[in-house]
Amino acid sequence: MGLMTAEQYKESLRDGRVVYYKGDKVEDVTGHPAIANCVNTMAIDFEMAHDPRYKDLAVVYDEELGEEISRHFYIPRNGDDLLKMQELIIKSTELGDGYIPLSHDIGADALNGISITANVMGNKEYIERIENYRKYLKKTDIAVVAAVTDVKGDRMLRPGDPGQAHKDYYVRVVEKNSKGIIVRGAKAHISGAAYANEFFVIPCRAMTEGDADYAVAFAIQANARGIKQVVRPFVERRSANDFPNQRPHTMITDSLIIFDDVFVPWERVFLCGEWKYAATMVYNFALLHRRTGCAYRIPLSEQLLGMAQAIAEYNGVEKAQHVREKITDMVIYLETLKALCKAACYDYTMYGGIAIPNPVVTNIAKYHFAHNYHEIIRIVQDLAGGLLVTRPSYLDYCVPELKDDIVKYCGAKAGIPTESRLRMLDLIRRMTHSELETIALHGEGSPQAERMTIYGEARKTIAYCKKLAEELAGINN
Ligand SMILES: Cc1cc2nc3c(=O)[nH]c(=O)nc-3n(C[C@H](O)[C@H](O)[C@H](O)COP(=O)(O)OP(=O)(O)OC[C@H]3O[C@@H](n4cnc5c(N)ncnc54)[C@H](O)[C@@H]3O)c2cc1C
Repeated sequence: MGLMTAEQYKESLRDGRVVYYKGDKVEDVTGHPAIANCVNTMAIDFEMAHDPRYKDLAVVYDEELGEEISRHFYIPRNGDDLLKMQELIIKSTELGDGYIPLSHDIGADALNGISITANVMGNKEYIERIENYRKYLKKTDIAVVAAVTDVKGDRMLRPGDPGQAHKDYYVRVVEKNSKGIIVRGAKAHISGAAYANEFFVIPCRAMTEGDADYAVAFAIQANARGIKQVVRPFVERRSANDFPNQRPHTMITDSLIIFDDVFVPWERVFLCGEWKYAATMVYNFALLHRRTGCAYRIPLSEQLLGMAQAIAEYNGVEKAQHVREKITDMVIYLETLKALCKAACYDYTMYGGIAIPNPVVTNIAKYHFAHNYHEIIRIVQDLAGGLLVTRPSYLDYCVPELKDDIVKYCGAKAGIPTESRLRMLDLIRRMTHSELETIALHGEGSPQAERMTIYGEARKTIAYCKKLAEELAGINN
């Protein structure tokens, strides 16, 4: 089939999938007034592959197939491959105005996480199945996302703990037969699922022997029988109160995916009962996806820095000492993120035949971004001033008898048009009064998950440093 065009992608979504949105069943996600914006955002990846400006970044020649494929499905073999992938994610996020197209990147993280796990297990059947599936993805170029986070029930209890209110808080195998498995359960917050062609489903935590039925990973079509999705409402960030803006409305929604006794053929099953490897799979997915998540955040951090500097200049305060200090803090935040992302790629290791970024540095990058994000938002809102929430709307600006007064009294520094100041405030409101703070914290795993990984992965470094200290103290062990 080869690289899909945006139109082919949209056509492929008219497949009878079951999707609910604000109480209604959606017959065609591509024609729905809100969800179509998300489909268009997701389509950016397909457009890039055919656009001469981005093609070199988005597409690679695959020796095995003898054709061009999405870079996302190509196996990274070194730091340069990882960096190129990072650049691609940064560019597509820029084109999505801060929202991520997601059609391949999160799926590719799951694909590589599963592939590494199959290799670590040394399970020939799983290796063959996942590499066949990779070939299928390379050939079809479909949109594939990752359903990892289970609804979980009581967080302190294991999936199979009899204390859970019911057995289906984690996706589990309820039946096996000669053709495949039947699964039941639900995955929460799954980004892009309503307009993906297929999903990877993998466990979200380490498991014990008692959880063996929950140690399951597979790939499944979004329109498979027994799957229904409940999509969170599209947050319309622009309104009639804002100045008109020709840039497309971008957005990604997330779904609660319910698996109501869904059949999965064996060739699409990548883990089934091997509970010891649930942790390996989720760990590797999380590592790769946190690297992807940090790349999403670079354009967003650049945009926030740009907003802070612009509004400070428009307000005439850009030379004030405290303003320079705040802008400096934002530069440190951005450059630290960029440097950590690059360093993680350069310091890669080969694992299960795939180049993976340095785990400690990757988790520190994600933690740095999430932990300090609210402070960055606070600076932008601080520099914007109260007009951020109290300014007259664009609708008032259009009233002939008000316009001159609004231009006169909502202006600030001479030479800066009032409209520019009001437009910048519209943008800051959209970007700092939104769900983005929660995404920063919980997307790709909660901050505690990153801290646990950093501590676990840094054990050798900690032991080495302790030895250094003991040597300095003259303690000989
Ligand atoms: C916008 C958005 C998009 C997302 N997209 C995807 C996606 O595409 N695919 C996907 O699979 N997931 C996705 N996620 C899910 C994301 O990875 C989770 O939100 C994250 O892992 C946290 O899980 P949770 O939301 O269930 O929070 P909870 O697990 O309920 O965490 C809430 C708090 O409880 C603490 N906690 C939880 N369990 C324990 C425990 N056992 N002991 C002590 N403390 C505990 C946490 O540290 C945290 O402080 C997305 C999330 C968001 C917000």
